[in-house]
Amino acid sequence: MRRPLGSLARLFPYVLSGVALTLFMAWAMPLLLAMRGLGPASRFAQAQQLVSSSPPADSAFVPSLQVRRGIFSDWCVVESGSLPSGDHLWPTEELQELSSNRAIASISRAAPMGCVLAPSELERDRYERIDTGLSGWPFRAFASEAWFIRRASGDGYEPMPEHRWNVYLGDIDGQQVLVALRPLPLGFAADTIFWSGLSWIAVAVPTTLRRQKREKYGKCIDCGHTLDPTVARRPTNCPECGVALRRDPLGFARSPEMHFQNAYVWLVFVSSLDIMLTWKILDRGGLEVNPVAKLVIDTWGMHGAIAFKFALMLWVIIACEILGRLKWSAGRFLAYVAVIISASPVVWSLCLLAWHELVPP
Ligand SMILES: [Zn+2]
Repeated sequence: MRRPLGSLARLFPYVLSGVALTLFMAWAMPLLLAMRGLGPASRFAQAQQLVSSSPPADSAFVPSLQVRRGIFSDWCVVESGSLPSGDHLWPTEELQELSSNRAIASISRAAPMGCVLAPSELERDRYERIDTGLSGWPFRAFASEAWFIRRASGDGYEPMPEHRWNVYLGDIDGQQVLVALRPLPLGFAADTIFWSGLSWIAVAVPTTLRRQKREKYGKCIDCGHTLDPTVARRPTNCPECGVALRRDPLGFARSPEMHFQNAYVWLVFVSSLDIMLTWKILDRGGLEVNPVAKLVIDTWGMHGAIAFKFALMLWVIIACEILGRLKWSAGRFLAYVAVIISASPVVWSLCLLAWHELVPP
């Protein structure tokens, strides 16, 4: 029960940001564009007049529907027509039945969702024209309406409309600047999902990249605390912020700094000393007592023996590192034992040389 609630709480900021961006695109964007003279009503991507041509000879007006589509808003202008009988007709779908005009048949497809195509039965004769503005991006989320009252003379409409579902801010270049307030549920939901998803991506992608980078460089994925690279096993929780760390993805193959450098320095030192002293002893006519070393020297000569010695050192170091990653104390033990074992022939050789020097034959 707690987990779904927790994930909902984590999604909440993204949804909030999605709503905020939806409102910005629906309300602020058209305003900003209008202030720069790019208002939705002043520049149309496409204007189509569906019902205008071939008016009946005995009538001054025909019902018409104009759709103007912009990038950030759409406008839909509906005008009524009058029949010879004096009735007013609006370009609604019922009109399809009455008219043989094929253009009217496409009204329901042509008009964007949320446009007012006709007033209610009671207001049918009071108004002449209805403008619907739709704003929001990428989907239209809000609508505003301007209802133009029919003139008493029956000739056109009053220039100043009744505003519905909007805040009228004023005119810019003869275009009315409105803030649409009638929510279109589907468009609003789609916009919110779109912008929430985008906010989530904008946050999640850099976070994931940063976590991967921190993971790669052996840092805490949450706070960036540098984890001690010399410890054999990565701790399960960050020592700085306490967040649970992922199991080391590279694990065994990870190669941080070596664990027992001091021991290796001694190992290399005493092994080199061993080679030098052996060389010296053999040069003085001594004998190699180590059977393995003797076999190597007899087979490959002194150069082969040097190569063998260094290969052995390398092998010991690798073995210590591997063991140290499994169990740190065991790795350290092996490293020091290797140093002691390598040192013993050196001590022995030094004694021999000293003996040789001090007690001449
Ligand atoms: Zn941390």
